[in-house]
Amino acid sequence: MKTDTIVLGAGIVGTSIALNLAERGRSVVLVDRRGPGEETSYGNAGLVERASIYPTAFPRSVKALLDVALRRNPGASYHWSALPGLIPWMFAYWRASAPARILDYARVMDSLLVHTVTEHQRLSAASGAGHFFREGGWLKLYRTEGGLASERAEFPLARHYGLTAREVSIHEALELEPSLRPVFTGAVLWSDPHSVSSPGGVTQTYAAHLPQLGGRVLRGDARTLARFCAGWSVKTEEGAVEAPNVVVALGPWAMDVLRPFGVNLPLQVKRGYHMHYRPEGNASLARPILDEEGGYVITPMQGGIRLTTGVEFAGRDAPRSPVQLDQTEILARGLFPLGPRAEAEPWMGSRPAFPDMLPVIGAAPGQKGLWLAIGHQHLGFTLGPITGRLLADMMDGVTPVVDPAPFAATRF
Ligand SMILES: Cc1cc2nc3c(=O)[nH]c(=O)nc-3n(C[C@H](O)[C@H](O)[C@H](O)COP(=O)(O)OP(=O)(O)OC[C@H]3O[C@@H](n4cnc5c(N)ncnc54)[C@H](O)[C@@H]3O)c2cc1C
Repeated sequence: MKTDTIVLGAGIVGTSIALNLAERGRSVVLVDRRGPGEETSYGNAGLVERASIYPTAFPRSVKALLDVALRRNPGASYHWSALPGLIPWMFAYWRASAPARILDYARVMDSLLVHTVTEHQRLSAASGAGHFFREGGWLKLYRTEGGLASERAEFPLARHYGLTAREVSIHEALELEPSLRPVFTGAVLWSDPHSVSSPGGVTQTYAAHLPQLGGRVLRGDARTLARFCAGWSVKTEEGAVEAPNVVVALGPWAMDVLRPFGVNLPLQVKRGYHMHYRPEGNASLARPILDEEGGYVITPMQGGIRLTTGVEFAGRDAPRSPVQLDQTEILARGLFPLGPRAEAEPWMGSRPAFPDMLPVIGAAPGQKGLWLAIGHQHLGFTLGPITGRLLADMMDGVTPVVDPAPFAATRF
């Protein structure tokens, strides 16, 4: 089978790329070993986090570092065995998190973020996924005055980028979310983000639209990627597919396919867990809630209230250790009347992350016809559709919607 472009990985990133290319008249085959949207793009907190101009930075203060090291911060955990291999990556992450570099990060990230809600709206209108989306922003809760003060310090930059963050009283927070219990001292409503009731459902609905644009979704193992004449081939359940262009959008698994071609990039993972709960009685949520110092998010989803945990530094394939879920569940039960767990086992996924906290979007160095869209870390669900548009612009050789230079793989 011959096609213009093979897209490897049917998460939100690969699916959005395939749709953008197909909309422009390219023939596209989207290949995944599972169904679309069944991995990281399934299990996230469902935020289209348009307002995330501040990075999830490496802790800078001694106290914050000690809190992580001594496991006093439920938002971060680690496996001892993973740390030696992570030292160079962690050092680069620490350097990229320097306060002096935050303004640059915000400028670069906002160039993508400003398009995130509109690009999701465009794909959801075309594919019929609108019913998954809700407005209303998200509510961040603070248990200490110090935590609230550091959030307030973000307001001026947020205003600079046209974002709306408003401190609300406990009374107003409880009016917005009547099922919460007042175990917090302050709250901030960020109005610009949107959220969804099923990120996996959104990705599947986007992918289901691809055949209407002439594309195909096939099962196959991306590790069978090989050079073929002047292009590329990959084996699928329906036979080999050949194309002059291939896009690697394999999220946490990207390096399994890229390393054999000599493309070495510092991609690591930040693992996370989720669990669904039935709310007790008539309790409900209207939007995602971040308990900042508690280190978790609760989001209303089709499957119940989804509790997602913070970061675990561990090998992608290392055994699960959902201690953060156990810790944060106690805090979340104090905040919201969570009923019983709805699943026997927690879900686990891996945020694919580069140390400078930016994705790689663009051509693979030295590999004609090989394109990359990887490393979207904490914001992949948010950034998938604009990544698709940007990469399609680059592949088409038209003026890109966003300056792609900061996302080039050659920066490493
Ligand atoms: C707990 C948690 C909460 C999060 N919350 C948010 C949030 O609220 N908002 C947000 O924007 N982001 C969030 N994220 C991040 C977001 O989920 C990811 O950045 C995003 O899903 C990455 O998408 P992707 O398409 O790159 O990867 P994936 O969704 O993982 O897709 C990669 C695909 O590649 C396929 N694949 C892998 N290996 C092979 C192979 N050998 N052959 C064929 N196919 C293969 C997989 O099956 C998979 O479908 C969260 C992440 C976690 C873990």
